[in-house]
Amino acid sequence: MNTHEQIQALLSHQRAYFLKGNTRSVQGRHDRLEKLRLFIKKNERAIMDALKKDLNKSEFEAYSTEIGILLEEISFSQKNLQKWAAPKKVKTAITHIGTTGKIVPEPFGTALIIAPWNYPFQLALSPLIGAIAAGNTAVLKPSEFAPNVSKLLKELVEETFPSELVVVIEGGIETNQVLLAQKFDVIFFTGSVPVGKIVMEAASKHLTPVILELGGKSPCIVHKDADLQLSAKRIAFGKFTNAGQTCIAPDYLLVHSAVKKEFLSLLQAEITEMFSENPLLNENYSRMISEKHFDRLTEFFSDGKAIFGGKADRESLKIAPTILDEVNVDAAVMQEEIFGPVFPVMEYTDLDQAITFIQDRPKPLALYLFTSSKQTEQQIIGQVSFGGGCINDTLMHIATPHLPFGGVGESGMGNYHGKYSFEAFTHYKSVLHQTTRFDFSFRYPHAKNGLKLIRK
Ligand code: NAD
Repeated sequence: MNTHEQIQALLSHQRAYFLKGNTRSVQGRHDRLEKLRLFIKKNERAIMDALKKDLNKSEFEAYSTEIGILLEEISFSQKNLQKWAAPKKVKTAITHIGTTGKIVPEPFGTALIIAPWNYPFQLALSPLIGAIAAGNTAVLKPSEFAPNVSKLLKELVEETFPSELVVVIEGGIETNQVLLAQKFDVIFFTGSVPVGKIVMEAASKHLTPVILELGGKSPCIVHKDADLQLSAKRIAFGKFTNAGQTCIAPDYLLVHSAVKKEFLSLLQAEITEMFSENPLLNENYSRMISEKHFDRLTEFFSDGKAIFGGKADRESLKIAPTILDEVNVDAAVMQEEIFGPVFPVMEYTDLDQAITFIQDRPKPLALYLFTSSKQTEQQIIGQVSFGGGCINDTLMHIATPHLPFGGVGESGMGNYHGKYSFEAFTHYKSVLHQTTRFDFSFRYPHAKNGLKLIRK
């Protein structure tokens, strides 16, 4: 039970701890990141088991998309922390002779981090790395739909950090409502667009800054000059990893009509190669998170013609990778974020058509373009707005700490990963230091003399 009073008490402890300066030292932040690194390393087995129970995630996926990414992110932050946290001297204007300027990074204070269920371990801790590196305290709310990971996170965080520094509060919508009614110094939310709006509305009551990592429909374009074999392999990987329950998974395919037939047959072969002839019996193929999610996805089957897959097993909550052709743009599968292993196919004959199709819809979180032409690449990058993406690949832009990760428009606001995570949890305080050795009278009203020297 997380009552209003309990949550308020935890928050006031965190605030007092922060205000006493306990989180400020850079060495202390580095040490806390080290503790986080060690707790992940020591508990790899338990993390994999919890992910298996919640999503039937394979060990390979658990390591590559959750554990490994976090370890990499922590090392990167530790390596660069000193540099990121140091105040930076800046030039001053000619009108400001006698002054020096500096930008001082300071932690916001107490952060609220709300996580989703699809990468329940990674998406809870990745923002926490930024919060700790920047010197904040944090309240972490994992998703109630991944109960094993949520429980493990609570246990591990309790063993590792005092609750004044980091605390995990488990619960669902009601708990979130209580949390969102409090005054935090920054809120980092990962989840759906509708809940993102609820979070932003609640934050506005306290003018709390928000970082919203949301979702949407990410297009995947296969142009006529693409390397079709390689495109098929990389798209099969990106779309069906975690059975499509990935925020940046290709949501729908936009394929040039000249290569549609060949590409779709290569894609089917690659899916079979990766997930076997019968993915429903594949031990390493993820399941849907809930019956509700399963039902929502299988309903999409009737929105087009399933030219591949189209099978599902409600008992194991598994849905086979499915390709849907002859889809109407008004059908639900082309209106809602799919977030599962159903892949609708749209075709185009002219790249401008594909561009207009994307521009007519909310700005996507990701975009993938497969082409061998620099000009096509430039046309898409120059004309289409999207959070981030890849040319000739899928998903991989998320896995490097050198690229900022985030959405634009309805797919979110703010970035993180690497230095951008530090920045997401940091206020950059401007400080102008003025000399007392002289003073310019002309800056004041009714000035008589230009410069007055002040002798000490
Ligand atoms: P969700 O929005 O339903 O839930 C996210 C969090 O919000 C959970 O902790 C949940 O408890 C809480 N929540 C749910 N309803 C709420 C309400 N009415 N009021 C207050 N809090 C509420 O999202 P989800 O189903 O967990 O995750 C799937 C969505 O998240 C997809 O849209 C996906 O694209 C998106 N996502 C985005 C990213 C990203 O990095 N941009 C990553 C993963 C998932």
